[in-house]
Amino acid sequence: MRLFLLLLIFSIGVFFPGQAVAQDAFIDLKSTHFVVRYTLPGERNTAEEILDQAEQMYVRVSRNIGFTRYADFWTWDKRVKIILFPDQISYTRFTGQTQWSRGYASRDSKLFRDRVVVTYDGQPEIFSAILPHEIAHLILWDLLAEDAGKTPVWFEEGVAQLEEQGKRQLVKDAMRPVIAAGKHIPFNVFIDLKPSELQDESQVSLFYAQSLSVVVFLIEKYGQDAFYRLSKELRDGRNFEAALVRAYSGIFGSMADLESRWIADASSL
Ligand SMILES: [Zn+2]
Repeated sequence: MRLFLLLLIFSIGVFFPGQAVAQDAFIDLKSTHFVVRYTLPGERNTAEEILDQAEQMYVRVSRNIGFTRYADFWTWDKRVKIILFPDQISYTRFTGQTQWSRGYASRDSKLFRDRVVVTYDGQPEIFSAILPHEIAHLILWDLLAEDAGKTPVWFEEGVAQLEEQGKRQLVKDAMRPVIAAGKHIPFNVFIDLKPSELQDESQVSLFYAQSLSVVVFLIEKYGQDAFYRLSKELRDGRNFEAALVRAYSGIFGSMADLESRWIADASSL
């Protein structure tokens, strides 16, 4: 089936090569930091729009994470590839992603041996949510390169969701009653939790919402500079609690302090 699909895509590329460069099954369109790889010549406008927006996201995401000396990264052969499948069917068939996956980022998968964002065309939230979220993941992984894997998943997902338009307020409103009712995920569980280990879909949603809520609390309550310090401590290879305590010295002595202050803040609104 995959072979058939590849052949189909390839033949489309051959018959309608377009103005951009056609390579294997895909047509490439490049900007400074990104290459969009798409399959149908009719998607040229979408590909141009993606490049334009991705360059803006690159600047914004780097700044939000505190990675300002990032300017020369991801250029030339290090450009990030954004693979745009024409529709959900080809996306799920080719990548093996689940039916509800709308996109993902990867640094070195068997399928794509590069930094890639993989998604499919025709999704209304591609610019407002999918691309900024996945680009944030890639930047964060690069920022924390040495000891990636030490960083808690919730922190990465919190930072990635920070880039999704309108989500911050949505999550604030949603989390307030949850915290008030004591139904949040206790931090001693939350710190090492991976959403893939959760069976219950509502717990997965809670995990994501809580992740964003804690990151937003840190930034809005204690400012961008302290958050940059936290990024730097993590980049230096500290585990999350040690990084937190150093970056917010005099404020948090432990994860438990972060939890109680986060609860108090949500209750005070
Ligand atoms: Zn994510």
